[in-house]
Amino acid sequence: PYEVLIVGGGPAGAAAAVYAARKGIRVGVAAERFGGQVNDTLAIENYISVLETDGPKFAMALEAHVKAYDVDIMNLQRAEKLIPAAQPGGLIEVQLANGAVLKSRSVILSTGARWRNINVPGEAEYKNKGVAYCPHCDGPLFKGKRVAVIGGGNSGVEAAIDLAGIVSHVTLLEFGDQLRADAVLVDKLKSLPNVAIHTQAQTTELTGDGNKLGGLRYTDRATGTEHHVELEGVFVQIGLVPNTEWLKGTVELSKFGEIIVDHHGRTSLPGVFAAGDATTVPFKQIVIAAGDGAKAALGAFDYLIRTPAA
Ligand code: FAD
Repeated sequence: PYEVLIVGGGPAGAAAAVYAARKGIRVGVAAERFGGQVNDTLAIENYISVLETDGPKFAMALEAHVKAYDVDIMNLQRAEKLIPAAQPGGLIEVQLANGAVLKSRSVILSTGARWRNINVPGEAEYKNKGVAYCPHCDGPLFKGKRVAVIGGGNSGVEAAIDLAGIVSHVTLLEFGDQLRADAVLVDKLKSLPNVAIHTQAQTTELTGDGNKLGGLRYTDRATGTEHHVELEGVFVQIGLVPNTEWLKGTVELSKFGEIIVDHHGRTSLPGVFAAGDATTVPFKQIVIAAGDGAKAALGAFDYLIRTPAA
């Protein structure tokens, strides 16, 4: 059995693996796709000490760092079930989709999250060519340009406020008949001079020249009229979904499906820790996920030295 088994190989899982391996204990990482969301990222400019890199390069660097240690990397492996230890200090089991069962004295869950897509024509085509999901990551790429934010919940309205300070103009589109964000955010948004808000707006298509996004089409659901907005960027903000469906009924999840963790990365189950985008930790970013993974590994090590093996 492992002493630390990490499920998920994004920045959180990779950092956890390095930190755990440096304690000289048996560490394994099972990941569906090593590197995680970073693989889908073009430019990364906010990982401190790395002025600029790209996603695939960063993912390879994560893997190289983990491989520098004696860690079992099980790539292309999907975990399907977590089985808590039968008694305190006992072995926790993780069942994989291929039928294998991995056993470990402690487990770190770092399965990350995925952005919800709007699924309209043009979205996939112009991803990273004008279509973005993360204002903290990609906002500065649209400096001085026109953008739209799709989604009028807290994340959409926060994104619009954030972007309004960087870009020339923001159009916010909400499908429902009113914004669903906190009143203080809505008031702030409405006070900004370079923001237009459209409710009852159903985005139907993202348009462009085949290489780059150039606009967005929406239907005004109140009147049935069609509109086209010319712009250079669209931020889709209709939800970040944690990859925790497989954990329902085992560790405690928030109402958004995030694994609830304390400041040591502990979950509701003894010996089970969690880190990164899959958890309640606020602000989903690479540097935060990596720090969080390090924290969960140290939390797990602390658990191991204090808990006699059953
Ligand atoms: P993830 O990166 O999501 O990794 C999750 C890991 O778990 C993966 O290995 C996945 O395959 C695996 N996994 C999931 N489910 C299972 C399962 N059941 N069994 C086994 N393995 C599983 N952040 C920045 O700081 N700067 C940026 O510039 C930036 N740009 C971004 C651009 C895009 C397009 C996207 C999508 C995100 C961007 N982010 C950026 C956010 C950043 O990528 C995430 O915050 C970060 O990757 C989270 O790390 P994580 O390890 O928690 O999860």
